[in-house]
Amino acid sequence: MSPTAPGPRSRAEWRTAARVLVGGVDSPVRSFRGVGGTPVFFAGGRGAYLVDVDGRPYLDLVSSWGANLLGNAPPSVVSAVRQSASRGLTFGAPSPLEHELAERIRRAAPELERLRFVSSGTEAVMSAVRVARGFTGRDKVVKFEGGYHGHSDGLLARAGSGVATHSLPDSAGVPSSIVKETLVARYNDVEGLSELFERQGGSIAAVVVEPVAGNMGVVSPLEGFLPAVSAVAHRHGSLVIADEVITGFRLRRGTVHGALGLSADLVTLGKVVGGGMPVGVYGGRRKVMEMVAPMGPVYQAGTLSGHPVAMAAGAAMLDRLTPSVYRRLESTGAALEEELLGLAEEAHVHRFRIQRMGSMLGLFFTPGPVVDYPTALATDRTRYARFFHAALDRGVYLPPSALETTFVSAAMRPADLARARGAFRAGFARAGRGRG
Ligand SMILES: *Cc1c(COP(=O)(O)O)cnc(C)c1O
Repeated sequence: MSPTAPGPRSRAEWRTAARVLVGGVDSPVRSFRGVGGTPVFFAGGRGAYLVDVDGRPYLDLVSSWGANLLGNAPPSVVSAVRQSASRGLTFGAPSPLEHELAERIRRAAPELERLRFVSSGTEAVMSAVRVARGFTGRDKVVKFEGGYHGHSDGLLARAGSGVATHSLPDSAGVPSSIVKETLVARYNDVEGLSELFERQGGSIAAVVVEPVAGNMGVVSPLEGFLPAVSAVAHRHGSLVIADEVITGFRLRRGTVHGALGLSADLVTLGKVVGGGMPVGVYGGRRKVMEMVAPMGPVYQAGTLSGHPVAMAAGAAMLDRLTPSVYRRLESTGAALEEELLGLAEEAHVHRFRIQRMGSMLGLFFTPGPVVDYPTALATDRTRYARFFHAALDRGVYLPPSALETTFVSAAMRPADLARARGAFRAGFARAGRGRG
């Protein structure tokens, strides 16, 4: 069985890329290491579809890892980018576009009383952690196992097993002296977090949490978990950082942590708010944010921060995010969930479940439930890889990794899902081969 995707031109591009780019890609999640094979190279995209360099269309269920909420190349965003670019790419000085996007964000998420633009989610969380340390005068940070907060040194830690331990770095090149300032707790485990704070609360600057975990598939907070996170942290004088780089403006217009009971001091955004351009945001209570230079002693800067073209793209994106967009995202997400569950059933693939929050779907080849990182790791990656390749061959682009979120966009229509039915059916047929 020789796969039909990637096509001949993708294969040629891959060979060239691999000779000059390390691993042929600029971000490891784009490589096909998790599913086998070599990546498809894309030439463009429009609406719900990506088109590869061989001219083949794919239903896009990666949505640039969540950034493309409106699908590919939404006309109003593209036109804002064109107009802004024609006026100058970067000034290295303030432009009104920065506060225009900031005001749009704050109108939807008033808890960002003051904010700062950076160029990635990584930078946003890294900076928020620095602010929390500056504000509290403490060094340690708590994260949850399976949570991804960008690739800054201290946050590339996961911990082995146990409720919370001094963690091992997930990456070579990260000094253990830095990772020892990161404490790792288990998602949805209030008791473990409380014990951790009982022992070390006095030295913890902040706890950073994805209100809905989106980097180990999709894992929703259990009832009471998020309120307990902020209660425990605040009781010990620590700050709470809500990492909404995925969830912000995807699950609703604004942030979701408040609605889920998490009281945050700092919030990070990225992905959607850049409208497809590189943007990250950190912000929060005015008193906390005024720690940042030039107002305060916490230094953070960026040559291309608040980039005019990116700001224009973000503003055009937010202007499109009406209630009807979120209704469509919800109904498309629900339709895809129903469709996939039905096809899995039909193919007698029983060890399969979907955990969905709106337009975010976690596809797990495990009976679950998935509530934390260890249960997420129970997913059968071999089965996912088979499912992935069968669907890819028939024009559906899923995340090339079993533990990533599948994202639907507002550009998708029921007809697009119907057209993908054969691909999903083939996916389950291949995934179901072999053991029960
Ligand atoms: C993607 C992501 C980041 C990192 O953002 P980049 O723009 O890739 O640096 C941080 N936090 C969360 C929750 C993310 O999903």
